[in-house]
Amino acid sequence: MKIRAQIAMVLNLDKCIGCHTCSVTCKNVWTNREGMEYAWFNNVETKPGIGYPKDWENQAKWKGGWRRKASGEIEPRIGSKWRVLANIFANPDLPEIDDYYEPFDFDYEHLQTAREGSAFPTARPRSKISGERLQKIEWGPNWEEILGGEFAGRSKDANFEGVEKEIYGQFENTFMMYLPRLCEHCLNPTCAAACPSGAIYKREEDGVVLIDQDKCRGWRMCVSGCPYKKIYFNWESGKSEKCTLCYPRLEAGQPTVCSETCVGRIRYLGVVLYDADRIQEAASTPDEGDLYEAQLKLFLDPNDPAVIAKARAESIPDAWLEAAKRSPVYKMAMEWKIAFPLHPEYRTLPMVWYVPPLSPIQSAAEAGKIGVDGEMPDVKNLRIPVRYLANLLTAGREEPVVTGLERMLAMRAYMRAKTIDGVLDEAIA
Ligand code: SF4
Ligand code: SF4
Repeated sequence: MKIRAQIAMVLNLDKCIGCHTCSVTCKNVWTNREGMEYAWFNNVETKPGIGYPKDWENQAKWKGGWRRKASGEIEPRIGSKWRVLANIFANPDLPEIDDYYEPFDFDYEHLQTAREGSAFPTARPRSKISGERLQKIEWGPNWEEILGGEFAGRSKDANFEGVEKEIYGQFENTFMMYLPRLCEHCLNPTCAAACPSGAIYKREEDGVVLIDQDKCRGWRMCVSGCPYKKIYFNWESGKSEKCTLCYPRLEAGQPTVCSETCVGRIRYLGVVLYDADRIQEAASTPDEGDLYEAQLKLFLDPNDPAVIAKARAESIPDAWLEAAKRSPVYKMAMEWKIAFPLHPEYRTLPMVWYVPPLSPIQSAAEAGKIGVDGEMPDVKNLRIPVRYLANLLTAGREEPVVTGLERMLAMRAYMRAKTIDGVLDEAIA
């Protein structure tokens, strides 16, 4: 067993209001420079939706993440080191600028100039580049939210696989949620494996994944290799850049900029301990559906005296071990199992986990459409289909998502009962 510490993050999607404060503050600190105008180390996309860059979840197209070979070994989907080296002059799998986003504005003028009619005029979105109405362009990172019912049922979001899209395409059944995204600081990063220059490394002490700007030669294999499309090529410097998890702030004992400025207080940072000797075993788990559980098993109990003794022997500082004991990430992801990794089937072992949104499911629960007695709900009856969340967070396995949602429902009911009308119920407390 080789114990390592990792700084990880849990985002509670129930609380995200889609204000984009995290994205803007991150941009001001890290990418407010020439060459990085289009780059958002943190972005918040609307789900359902095809996200930013366009269609990033389509690994058949971009060749991101790892694939498992018949031999049971894994290799970057973009190809083995040798193929990567052979491809360095003609990388075919890069998103283009049009795949990131097209800046747009609303046609406010129409509000003043529209002919008198029975309905109020609408300020429709218009491209800042071509001036065209955006319906013709048909894409934007928060597109489905902006078009609402107009887009319903036509979404190309891959997470609809196995969901009866026709039902959710009807206006009264549409649903939406926000998905804030940043680099996952993966335990098994394909960006590092795909780099021919060896410029990408994972820090031993805290697991932060960084690009050595002196070593980067701008091959951009990392852009293809990262399945989350969280590496950006700086056209001014000719080097690739990515989220640093605000490591200078972490070293000074401060949270990341996105965590500190989050309006919804949805972000939890914490230390987790894991067994680095079992990374390859977990990442090459045969059945994709088992990858969430396989990743869970990597984590070690920070309250176990044997783990603490071994961690000390490996020179993990006491302050870190104390932080691991208090870690909200360990509690939510590993102990309570209410937070899940984003697309574990990419096999990178991502370290930014998500609590699925409960609010629309709460109304389904009140209508008796989801039980708290361990029964699987009828997926057709839920505002956000469990299958959709499972495709996003557990490689299609519905049981862990249902259990997580039911736990949160029970906790919400308990907390409300405990303090009815602000008065503590002694019996429950
Ligand atoms: Fe690398 Fe981050 Fe992409 Fe993981 S999410 S592969 S660490 S850039
Ligand atoms: Fe969501 Fe927080 Fe970002 Fe606002 S600042 S979009 S609440 S993650």
